[in-house]
Amino acid sequence: MMDRYMLDGTQPVPCADLLTWRRWFETADRTVAKTQVAPDVEVRTVFLGVDQSWHGGPPLLFETSVFGGPLDGETECYSTWSQAEEGHASLCAEVQAALALARLPPCPPGSLCEVCLDAPAIALQPAPWGGERGVCAACAATDQAPGAEA
Ligand SMILES: [Zn+2]
Repeated sequence: MMDRYMLDGTQPVPCADLLTWRRWFETADRTVAKTQVAPDVEVRTVFLGVDQSWHGGPPLLFETSVFGGPLDGETECYSTWSQAEEGHASLCAEVQAALALARLPPCPPGSLCEVCLDAPAIALQPAPWGGERGVCAACAATDQAPGAEA
C-alpha cells in the first residue's frame, strides 16, 4: 500500500482517500522549481505525491530530475519542500559544472592539476596568464574567472 500525500502550500499532508488525492493530483501545480541550464538541458523538481522511500525513514515526496546533458537521467529525492529547493539548486550547479567540463578540451594524461596541485588534470582550461592549464574536475567546476585567484 502506497502512502499518498497532497500539498498544503509547501507542506505535504497525508491523504488516505484515493479519490480526493487523484482529483487533487490531476489539477495541482506540483512544480517546485524548473531551470533551463542550457538550451537542451533542463532540471525539474516536482512534488511526487507518493512516498518513494523503500526502507522506512522519512517519506521521500519530492524529486529532482535532469533532462539532457552529461547528467541526463540523474535524480534525487527529498522529504520536504525546502530540501527539494536546496537539492534543485545543487543539482543545477552540478549540471553547470559538468557542462563546463564537457566544453573543455581533455588534458593529456600524466599531468597534475595546476590549480590545486593535488589531483590529476583531466581537462585544459584557459590560464589567467594566457595559454592553457590542466585542471582536475573539482577545480574546473569551481570555474574561477581568470585573475580572480588570490
Ligand atoms: Zn584541482
